[in-house]
Amino acid sequence: MTTEDLSREIILDHYQNPRNHGRLEHPTVANRGHNPLCGDEIELSLLIDASDHIGDIRFAGRGCSISQASASMMTDIVKGRTLDEVEASVQRFTQSMANRQSAPAELEAELDALQGVKRYPARVKCALLPWTTLRESIDLYRHREPTRDGADALAGDCSDAP
Ligand code: ZN
Repeated sequence: MTTEDLSREIILDHYQNPRNHGRLEHPTVANRGHNPLCGDEIELSLLIDASDHIGDIRFAGRGCSISQASASMMTDIVKGRTLDEVEASVQRFTQSMANRQSAPAELEAELDALQGVKRYPARVKCALLPWTTLRESIDLYRHREPTRDGADALAGDCSDAP
């Protein structure tokens, strides 16, 4: 089996059996990303605990196998890590896809499977979509409004009411 076959098999496995698929019922932060080039959509929901660890993460979405497999791998990797660690991982993965270097060692070996995508520049955006969406989610979380008390919450808008 060639490396290319193995990569294809790993990507296909994550695409057909996505890890952490679905939506969290009460996420700390939720966000979606869109890749207009090939119509990929990724929706992330995260549970972030008081010590800034990602306690749980789910993704939903539709699109090409690269985007969905990348999201599946990513959720496996970042779960349980701190936001600082995750931001560093996002940055290094992004750089590895841009610079034709191998994936950073501290990331799961499976991410190597995505490095083959670099031969198809149009697909790099597919592989990066979940990661950029995650980075935006963390930004949203870091810049969220401070928790209000009950009275103030009732005075706010009702866009998130059931
Ligand atoms: Zn795509």
